[in-house]
Amino acid sequence: MLSKARSLPCFQLVFDVATFESSIGSVKLDRRFESRNIENELEARKAPLDRGPTDLLLHVGADTWARLSLDPADTRAAAADFGRLSSRPEPAAVLRPGSAADVARLLRSAFDSAPARPAPVSARGHGHSAHGQALAPGGVVVDMAHRSASTAPPGPAFDPGLGGHYVDVWAGELWVDVLNRTLEHGGLAPKSWTDYLYLSVGGTLSNAGISGQAFRHGPQISNVYDLDVVTGKGEIVTCSEKQNAELFHAVLGGLGQFGIITRARIALERAPKRVRWIRVLYSNFTAFTSDQEHLISLHAADASGRFDYVEGFVIVDEGLINNWRSSFFSPRNPVKITSLAGGNGVLYCLEVTKNYDESTAGSVDQEVEALLKQLEFVPGTVFTTDVPYVDFLDRVHKAELKLRAKGLWDVPHPWLNLFVPASRIADFDRGVFRGILGANKTSGPILIYPMNKHKWDERSSAVTPDEDVFYLVAFLRSALPDSGEPTQSLEHLTRQNQQILDFCDESGIGAKQYLPHHKTRAEWARHFGSQWETFLRRKSEFDPKFILGSGQGIFQPVPSTSSSHLFPS
Ligand code: FAD
Repeated sequence: MLSKARSLPCFQLVFDVATFESSIGSVKLDRRFESRNIENELEARKAPLDRGPTDLLLHVGADTWARLSLDPADTRAAAADFGRLSSRPEPAAVLRPGSAADVARLLRSAFDSAPARPAPVSARGHGHSAHGQALAPGGVVVDMAHRSASTAPPGPAFDPGLGGHYVDVWAGELWVDVLNRTLEHGGLAPKSWTDYLYLSVGGTLSNAGISGQAFRHGPQISNVYDLDVVTGKGEIVTCSEKQNAELFHAVLGGLGQFGIITRARIALERAPKRVRWIRVLYSNFTAFTSDQEHLISLHAADASGRFDYVEGFVIVDEGLINNWRSSFFSPRNPVKITSLAGGNGVLYCLEVTKNYDESTAGSVDQEVEALLKQLEFVPGTVFTTDVPYVDFLDRVHKAELKLRAKGLWDVPHPWLNLFVPASRIADFDRGVFRGILGANKTSGPILIYPMNKHKWDERSSAVTPDEDVFYLVAFLRSALPDSGEPTQSLEHLTRQNQQILDFCDESGIGAKQYLPHHKTRAEWARHFGSQWETFLRRKSEFDPKFILGSGQGIFQPVPSTSSSHLFPS
């Protein structure tokens, strides 16, 4: 049936789902694709498509066409993301690829079709961006998270050449699924994490992927051995530090601009069984950051002489600490800022963990005590809990379920993430935590923790400040329009984010946005700084028609006859 289908003009393709299934095993096609006529479907759309998407869709070929949806429910869903801030046009179609070959056929078709403006194509992981970064307005979104795979994913393996275990994953897989799979096969787990596991591998590798393990292992992009990538020319390329290294480094932290990652080989370690999870409070910012920086300086120490995870957060009101991740602090023992914070009304919470298993359970108490003795937190503010490793890694999902139950998850998220050089973090505290934020209630956590720059590979596309140590400061706030509290409105939070950015600019703080959102070419050029030339060169090499990643707002697809409109105006 397939070969017959291929021989038909593509606008007359009709699929016999039963034959198709039995010919390739367990692949199940959606009912919508049982019988389709491309031209009818294109015509039936209320708004006719531009030439670009039409050309592209007419030429993807039978196999890939079967995995494309023009259903308005699907295109609408692909236009929405976690941020709920973007109102850009929907894509014309959504591709649910079965394999890298589908992605390659789509991109090859986009590359080869030569309309005035080629259709944009963007990968979508789990749509957890804040500003429509995974969008392809008017083009095709490749929905990586919903693959109809025909075979079970492989388990972990050992490579003596790499000196460790690894697992190969489809880039649309969520980290939580990768974790469950690697644990099942021999108790292994990836080394470097994000705080939240319901993110796709491709989505976090396109940014960096950071959490409290980054001081020791580096970000997730420093823990990948090799990748399969489909470039903007529709070529499937395997790349690593040794093979096609330029593409490998370009794609890591590359904001989806150089190719669609379809497979990643992730570094693994033996997973600990349990986690001793500790929070201590500070009223003095200098003591807080000195202790954080001391703890990350122990990155190369023996396991017994360091923590495994170092993060922290700012507490500007009690609601935050006692609500968002409230499972940690005992309800019988609520934290009262006023009694601890002295005059300035701001507290800082250091969060650390120590991993252990049967063989180290006997010494974990002493090791934690010895490390805590080196710190200068407010006496009597040690909050400790002990949980299975998986529960610790999956902690934010618990907060998600609580927020969902209260209808507080699907709300706008004007998140702002900054990397701040360590030398200016005290200025940032004065100007922002104790300045711009003032005594306002915050509707979401404000994370702050340092990282070691030498754990980041400078050849990647990720942008970090030019200092040995820099902090992530993450304002993870939700707008709550119905709260009746003007300081929690989207307008207020958006204005405050801009004030924070302006403060950083005017004070020459040298901060860089993480998960960056910029509006003009000049802002992007400034963001990349000395990496901008490399970024441009890599773009013209791997995606010369600027088809990929237009949702980021860095480049727009260019007419094949023109080389002058390389950027948004
Ligand atoms: P999407 O939003 O779908 O895509 C993000 C970008 O990557 C887009 O430009 C998209 O085109 C591109 N992309 C997606 N898949 C691919 C692919 N296969 N190949 C090439 N490009 C691709 N980040 C951290 O680093 N640490 C955290 O602790 C953390 N916690 C978070 C907690 C929550 C609740 C949320 C909502 C986000 C968090 N993030 C964190 C941010 C998160 O890493 C980014 O938003 C990431 O982009 C989301 O992944 P996603 O799979 O949803 O990607």
